[in-house]
Amino acid sequence: MTLKNKMIGIDEAIISAKRVMFRCNKLAKITCMKIGITRLYLSPEHSLVNELVGNWMKKAGMIVRQDEVGNICGRYESKYINSPAIVLGSHLDTVRNAGRYDGILGVLTAIEIVYWLNKNQTRLKLAIEVIGFGDEEGTRFGITLLGSRGLTGTWKKEWLLYTDKDGITISEAMTNFGLDIRKIKDASRNIKDIVAYIEFHIEQGPCLDNENLPLGVVTTIHGARRFNCRFIGQSGHAGTVPMYYRKDALVAFAEWMTFVEHNTCKKHPQLVATVGFLNCKPGATNVIPGEVDFSLDIRGPKDSLLESLSTTLLKEANIIANNRKLSFEFKEYYRTSATVCDIKLQKILFNSIQELQGRCLLLPSGAGHDAIAIAECWPIGMLFIRNHLGISHNPKESINLDDLIISLQAYSYAVNKIINKI
Ligand SMILES: [Zn+2]
Repeated sequence: MTLKNKMIGIDEAIISAKRVMFRCNKLAKITCMKIGITRLYLSPEHSLVNELVGNWMKKAGMIVRQDEVGNICGRYESKYINSPAIVLGSHLDTVRNAGRYDGILGVLTAIEIVYWLNKNQTRLKLAIEVIGFGDEEGTRFGITLLGSRGLTGTWKKEWLLYTDKDGITISEAMTNFGLDIRKIKDASRNIKDIVAYIEFHIEQGPCLDNENLPLGVVTTIHGARRFNCRFIGQSGHAGTVPMYYRKDALVAFAEWMTFVEHNTCKKHPQLVATVGFLNCKPGATNVIPGEVDFSLDIRGPKDSLLESLSTTLLKEANIIANNRKLSFEFKEYYRTSATVCDIKLQKILFNSIQELQGRCLLLPSGAGHDAIAIAECWPIGMLFIRNHLGISHNPKESINLDDLIISLQAYSYAVNKIINKI
């Protein structure tokens, strides 16, 4: 194979990029909202999208099937019989009032890579599977990564009883969708049948935009810890209790919040801590806040860092509470480990991008992705495309055509290299 044939040529990349944009717009119309995009797992919209994407996969030369948990899977055979596959993909579900690229772009660009190989009658030494995962966001049932966990065979039986906001269980929703819950295990794949997983995704932060680069390579998907926390003081009359005698829970919180800001970035530049929810009780203009309930979300590239940061922040909250004669309590309710992208895949992706755009940025992902689940079984690699201002989970998600053109070239180049080197 000559260098020219190792990546989608510029003329073809332009056509492909335009097709991807057109298809993103088309999928954006498949939504349960009158205005905006919301596409939920096991919904009628999920079914429509699978049908449409499945047809695009077929047109690109793939054999297509919907698996037992509702993922749409296309397979492009290698030049050998029964060879393992490299899996390319992302998710087709969305958050509520979503953008049109998150997840979707990773599926549609992967289809273009196969389309190009098939058009040039090229078969590689590994099969390529493109997967559009049915659920990554967890918007409907509150459990994330249900699609990719089908592949890894890590579905828990009790999940079937989880309900959506209308009281419909996953079990019922699967049946309504035409799936058989007794066959969920059949969605899982043998370890030896998959060699690696690559996910192309919009960056959901501003780093590439700030660096003025179209593409970057992900090093780690951040782990997370989430806590429900509470400062408990004493509510009282806003006019009669002198400042000195107060046990104001909001003031304790405010003191602690500045500690959070200063100490999180001091510990490690990639650590982030957020209080996104705050409820001040009793919540009246003329009453001293006696209780403040709030969430704490911590994310970072290493489990040890998450452990250390959460210990520091929660310890300080206790100290502040004691100093002010208040009490503090917390409960951890969620944790995920940091996921490291495969070093070999990182290098190949990095070199491919660098050859095309001159330099390449290595960056962590603060958001979760299907790759987290897949990494439990197979090596993963991720590449990010610039997303204007880094705004995502929002209708304002935006990518530009030139970035997409170079992305298709770099992605196809990297896939070729990975298949030859792995
Ligand atoms: Zn996503």
